[in-house]
Amino acid sequence: MPETLTNPPLTAADRCDRCGAGARVRALLPGGGELLFCGHHANEHEERLREVKATIVADERAAV
Ligand SMILES: [Zn+2]
Repeated sequence: MPETLTNPPLTAADRCDRCGAGARVRALLPGGGELLFCGHHANEHEERLREVKATIVADERAAV
């Protein structure tokens, strides 16, 4: 399986999948999907992300 992980910075166009706020975290799923979360929802779903072995490729929660 080719490793084509890119890590583009989060922009204002990136929106939380849950509430539509500006995304602070991007997570890649093992199956290839991508999830975007605001800080609030990233915290809320972090455990779940670990359970499904998602990889957090961008985390700008600290940058707020
Ligand atoms: Zn959110």
